[in-house]
Amino acid sequence: MSAEAQKETLGFQTEVKQLLHLMIHSLYSNKEIFLRELISNASDACDKLRYKALEDDGLYEGQSELQVKITADPENNTVTISDSGIGMNRQDVIDHLGTIAKSGTAEFLSQLTGDQKKDSQLIGQFGVGFYSSFIVAEEVEVVTRKAGSSVGEGVRWVSKGDGEFTIETVEKAERGTAITLKLKADEKEFSEDFRLRNLIRKYSDHIAVPVLMEKQHFGEEEKPETPEFEAVNEAQALWTRSRTEVKDEEYQEFYKHVSHDFADPLSWAHNKVEGKLEYTSLLYVPGKAPFDLYHREASRGLKLYVQRVFIMDDAEQFLPLYLRFIKGVVDSNDLSLNVSREILQQDPNITSMKSALTKRVLDMLSKLAKNDAEKYQSFWNEFGNVLKEGPGEDFSNKEKIAKLLRFASTNGSDDTQNVSLTDYIERMKEGQDKIYYLTAESYNTAKNSPHLEIFRKKGIEVLLMTDRIDEWLMSHLNEFDGMQFQDVAKGELDLGDTESEEDKKAQEEAAEKVEGMVERTKELLKEQVEDVRVTHRLTESPACVVLNDGEMGEQMRQIMAAAGQEIPEAKPILELNPTHPLILKLDQEQDEDRFGELARIILDQAMLAEGRQLKDAASYVQRLNRLLLELAG
Ligand code: ADP
Ligand code: MG
Repeated sequence: MSAEAQKETLGFQTEVKQLLHLMIHSLYSNKEIFLRELISNASDACDKLRYKALEDDGLYEGQSELQVKITADPENNTVTISDSGIGMNRQDVIDHLGTIAKSGTAEFLSQLTGDQKKDSQLIGQFGVGFYSSFIVAEEVEVVTRKAGSSVGEGVRWVSKGDGEFTIETVEKAERGTAITLKLKADEKEFSEDFRLRNLIRKYSDHIAVPVLMEKQHFGEEEKPETPEFEAVNEAQALWTRSRTEVKDEEYQEFYKHVSHDFADPLSWAHNKVEGKLEYTSLLYVPGKAPFDLYHREASRGLKLYVQRVFIMDDAEQFLPLYLRFIKGVVDSNDLSLNVSREILQQDPNITSMKSALTKRVLDMLSKLAKNDAEKYQSFWNEFGNVLKEGPGEDFSNKEKIAKLLRFASTNGSDDTQNVSLTDYIERMKEGQDKIYYLTAESYNTAKNSPHLEIFRKKGIEVLLMTDRIDEWLMSHLNEFDGMQFQDVAKGELDLGDTESEEDKKAQEEAAEKVEGMVERTKELLKEQVEDVRVTHRLTESPACVVLNDGEMGEQMRQIMAAAGQEIPEAKPILELNPTHPLILKLDQEQDEDRFGELARIILDQAMLAEGRQLKDAASYVQRLNRLLLELAG
């Protein structure tokens, strides 16, 4: 007996232990999903073997039937799921059934709260997989042998899901994997034929591999020596069926199989394309963002089939990065069966498929927005920030994507992003010819920004943008529906034709009165500011700071800095409200020292209101305190 054959006891990776513990508790109310996961894995294993065997049909070992068999044994309270798929060798077993390979797993687990309801949602986003067996089993045994290996190279893995597993080398005549669950005493239902049949039909009808169960024999019928099996599923790949004959529940179950997601999808689009290129696509919008949506290494892309043969998972060449949350299948009739990722990258046909699939997704989202605002809102809350990458990445669909964007605005009462640009344009004031927006660090900073004063007074809506990516997004959107975008904290105030002649005249007069003071302030603060000027955008605040049009704002600067590109900070422009009592007071101040104190406080306050940091906060506090003391004394 070789050393390897000896039984070894190994510990699960810490993350697996944590996940097992949490899963058993928080997914108990959905316990039957273990069957879906095991059937899904068995079907994947068959897909993988069929693909590998394209090059080497010796892997079939003379037995090319691919199938999943389920055997229930109520007497011993066990259920066995076996497949004739690719199988695993010893190292595969240790790697796949003892660790979790996903990046960001530890970080994900640290988000779990112990609140079962919340955690079960999070775990759903993570994907449960093989380990879900332990929800219903007190012990799980896996006996497997990799296709093409010798009979003596089978592996037996056993665990109670309590932190460790044993592994030993065994003989296994047939390739593939058999998983036997020794069910907990109160999970007897899963060893009963009738209950199992119903569940299996639900979880496997959409799967292309036949799922078989032992034939039942009733009454007079004689039970045969060797068990006979019969198919319980349709065993036709779901996407090859016609749209009209597939039920919603079947689409939903299939989604869970391809996406490893736990929740239902929000929407899907199933299309057959004929013509120069022939392919079928089935694309899903998930209900929840996966935990690793922002991880660079996270898997993304579609499952690729060529003429119904599974070729690869995560084929990322068919959709742009900003649609990386889309799950599904594409089955091509034109690609060669031995297509590789490298070939996909260079094939011009893939480029045209990519652009067609991108349009499909954008259309599906537009439809969702139009037909079901509530669902669309929930989509936006989950994936809006990813979609905002779109206009920068995909020029040709800029307008389409812009229609899908949603923002918070001064029209709403909280930070919910539910205003579309079309809504905004419908509400525009007479004479208004721009779409006004404001970017800020947080919703509160935005909402209370002095820049909004004149807009509030005139009842002009302003979009409030507080996501990290917003400034970058806006740098790629110049106009929508013929309307220019205008950052209200940049450049000179331009309210279009919303201002009357009288207003303008009054403004000019007010400005003239304080001309001298503006010059004095400019001279005093010339180190700190680019310019000082009078503004009419303020109705309550004495002053604000603005940037020149085209100047990079704080968000962008941070993004650039994170990418290793330090951008020198631009000096702001100080704008003064010529009707504010404080500014009028400043205008009257003859004492140069006091003038300086006051002007500096006004500048610092304007910076603070913008959510900016002061370079010399201590001096600001000292100045303010001197002023307060005077008041108190
Ligand atoms: P996932 O299916 O998302 O990869 P699972 O936890 O369900 O995660 O399975 C982990 C891995 O274990 C699979 O990716 C596969 O490599 C391996 N595996 C599980 N079940 C089987 C099986 N029946 N045959 C071959 N390999 C399997
Ligand atoms: Mg799985």
